[in-house]
Amino acid sequence: MAVGEFDLIRKYFQTPSRSRDVLLGIGDDCALVPGPGDRQLAITTDTLVAGVHFPGDTSPADIAHKAIAVNLSDLAAMGAEPAWLTLALTLPEPDESWLGAFAESFRAGADRYRVQLIGGDTTRGALTITVQAMGLVEPGRAMRRDAARPGDAIYVSGTLGDAATGLKIRQQQVMNDDQNWLLNRLNRPEPRVELGLQVSSFCRCCIDISDGLAADLGHILEASRCGATVNIDRLPLSRQLVAHSGGRNNVDRDEVLAGGDDYELCLVLDPNCQDRLMTISSELSLPLTRIGVIESGDSLTFVDDTGARFLPSRNGYEHFAT
Ligand code: ADP
Ligand code: MG
Repeated sequence: MAVGEFDLIRKYFQTPSRSRDVLLGIGDDCALVPGPGDRQLAITTDTLVAGVHFPGDTSPADIAHKAIAVNLSDLAAMGAEPAWLTLALTLPEPDESWLGAFAESFRAGADRYRVQLIGGDTTRGALTITVQAMGLVEPGRAMRRDAARPGDAIYVSGTLGDAATGLKIRQQQVMNDDQNWLLNRLNRPEPRVELGLQVSSFCRCCIDISDGLAADLGHILEASRCGATVNIDRLPLSRQLVAHSGGRNNVDRDEVLAGGDDYELCLVLDPNCQDRLMTISSELSLPLTRIGVIESGDSLTFVDDTGARFLPSRNGYEHFAT
């Protein structure tokens, strides 16, 4: 029988830490090791494969942006400040106009988030982009998946389900402004770096939403040995998604919960921190929405405003899912 993505990682790669300088090993958004000065180094890597992580017709500029953004999103989830990148590029052929556009956008992304490209690798093969990002975090401030406690409030940044909808509508011949905006959410995700840095002073638990809220919140619950209830009527939806769907009630909740590619942060924190969170929300002009609560137990329950149970028809994205 085929083995799923997360079982595969556990079975073949998740070995107990042998060295004392590994502060946090496999299983979180980033690993943590001692860094320069008294700070810790947060390290993550993410691969984008053509036809899997982006449609084959995606522009080189969008691919470059996304390769940086998905990695910085993992740094954001730890509350780490981006510092360095490496880039491993696998190309079917050295197409210089493609490379020019890719490189320009990569440079722009690196400048914008103040990270420096310090190395990489270049090979021939099916188009695949692997970025490794390294960031710095003060000791004790990294936000981890295993730090949720019953009674904590669950928040998400921004809006969910936009990119998944963008993926569905991208082949339309004609797009209105709302649909273009949704497609842009797929191609140009914004890592919530500043949010991660600011909330890490009082928030201990966070994950970035790459595979869909249901799956990624599930990783927090598994690591923290907790359960949760989430109200699907509280899920933050963009005006554009609501308009495209023809009203709030027509939005496909399964797509919002499991579509993936949101690159928003899911924050789990003491409800007493709400005021500080709202101050950050207005300073960053970024909505932060309370969607649920951490509980004891091990189940993730979805309810609506009437208290009725909602059963998602699928979980989030998993490579090798059977
Ligand atoms: P994320 O979605 O935050 O990028 P993943 O779901 O890809 O994280 O991976 C989950 C955890 O497993 C992470 O800590 C990641 O570093 C680790 N991981 C994934 N693949 C491998 C591998 N082949 N070898 C070692 N660790 C891995
Ligand atoms: Mg992540």
